[in-house]
Amino acid sequence: GLTEKLSAAFKKLRGKGRLSEADVKEAMREIRLALLEADVSYKVVKQFIAQVTEKAVGADVLEALSPAQMIIKIVNQELTDLMGGTSAKLEIASKPPTIVMMVGLQGAGKTTNCAKLAGLMKKQNGKRPLLAACDIYRPAAIKQLEVVGQQLDLPVFQMGQANPVDIAKAAIAHAKEHGNDMVFLDTAGRLHVDEELMDELRAIKAAVEPTEILLVVDAMIGQDAVNAAKAFDDALDIDGVVLTKLDGDARGGAALSIKAVTGKPIKFVGVGEKLDQIEVFHPDRMASRILGMGDMLSLIEKAEQNFDRQKALEMQEKLRKNKFTLTDFYEQMAQIKNMGSLSDLAGMLPGVKASDLEGANMDDGMLKQMEAIILSMTPYERENPGCLNSNRKKRIAAGSGTQVVDVNRLLKQFEMLQTITKQFSGGKLPRNMRKLMGKK
Ligand code: GDP
Ligand code: MG
Repeated sequence: GLTEKLSAAFKKLRGKGRLSEADVKEAMREIRLALLEADVSYKVVKQFIAQVTEKAVGADVLEALSPAQMIIKIVNQELTDLMGGTSAKLEIASKPPTIVMMVGLQGAGKTTNCAKLAGLMKKQNGKRPLLAACDIYRPAAIKQLEVVGQQLDLPVFQMGQANPVDIAKAAIAHAKEHGNDMVFLDTAGRLHVDEELMDELRAIKAAVEPTEILLVVDAMIGQDAVNAAKAFDDALDIDGVVLTKLDGDARGGAALSIKAVTGKPIKFVGVGEKLDQIEVFHPDRMASRILGMGDMLSLIEKAEQNFDRQKALEMQEKLRKNKFTLTDFYEQMAQIKNMGSLSDLAGMLPGVKASDLEGANMDDGMLKQMEAIILSMTPYERENPGCLNSNRKKRIAAGSGTQVVDVNRLLKQFEMLQTITKQFSGGKLPRNMRKLMGKK
């Protein structure tokens, strides 16, 4: 995936003191492949690489940054710009009601996101939205809108199988009468783009002149999402995109190309099935997600799967009481071993420098060494690592066949793990990570 490839490319750069033009080229090659693999369109990739290369090779490396950091900074900025730079707001009509027409292929998430978005507007902006059932082809569609509307306590307007244009017009009249300042039109979709559907949507557009036409696309379908966006934009001149199912395996390829290909911004993202799992789209956050946060997410997911729940609870209790000891540490290490590199894990947590743990991969040899060190401590020392002065460290190193630096490294890792465990257990993830994961 994109994330892994980019971090692999950057890991190589991380070791370098200076960046030659060849280094930039090599990094760009990896990034190019990664972007293509993530289903970013060829044209977009080509343009992107050209821009980044130009800036990277020409740029003076800032005092405070390493050359690798400088490249990451440039790539991050360019990715952000590619997705529109800043968040795009939902347009509100100067004369209510604001009419939001939701369009898209079948299964993209139109019905769900009518409710999600209306719910968000109600909660955050104090709006009084009305949902309108304009998808008349599947009987279940009306019922579905009613169900999600009910869950968020939103009124739903429907006229059964009547003509969608008439329904849309009647819904707006109804909204005016009942003081609804927003109307969300849930329209029909098809499995593929076809002219009959576009004609119907054009007719609704002409009849009600929506404030916003939002295209709902499924991030999981990658490049097809971009093709759909292009087709819908050509037919309807959309105002923005709701990118759904970003909680799945989607690697962000669609997010990267949509703005570049259509010129229309992603305004919201769906990050889960629950009706409050919708967020304003932030290009800068998406860029960091693509550049490395994705790693963090997968690591956290792995952590959640691998951690023994009961153990985690015990550990949390110990941490709370400040009784997390080196014995516990050793147990935790064995679990963390299954998650990959500790330095990767730590480097992704706010306030923790990855360089602190350079090379601290939890391979078997490492684990054996740690075991030896911990076993060379007295029980008192294991329970009270604070007492480990240089004399004690020397004795432990000798006893375990290691060096004092090894003992020191272990103690540093111990501290690091305390931080990590504090954040993992009890669902106490940092706020930005929880947001990304769609958790409260
Ligand atoms: P429509 O055919 O375009 O109206 O699509 P629906 O609103 O019926 O959604 C299709 C499926 O996608 C439903 O099962 C939704 O729960 C699901 N869905 C919609 N948005 C998201 C999302 O952001 N994340 C996840 N995981 N599922 C979503
Ligand atoms: Mg639907």
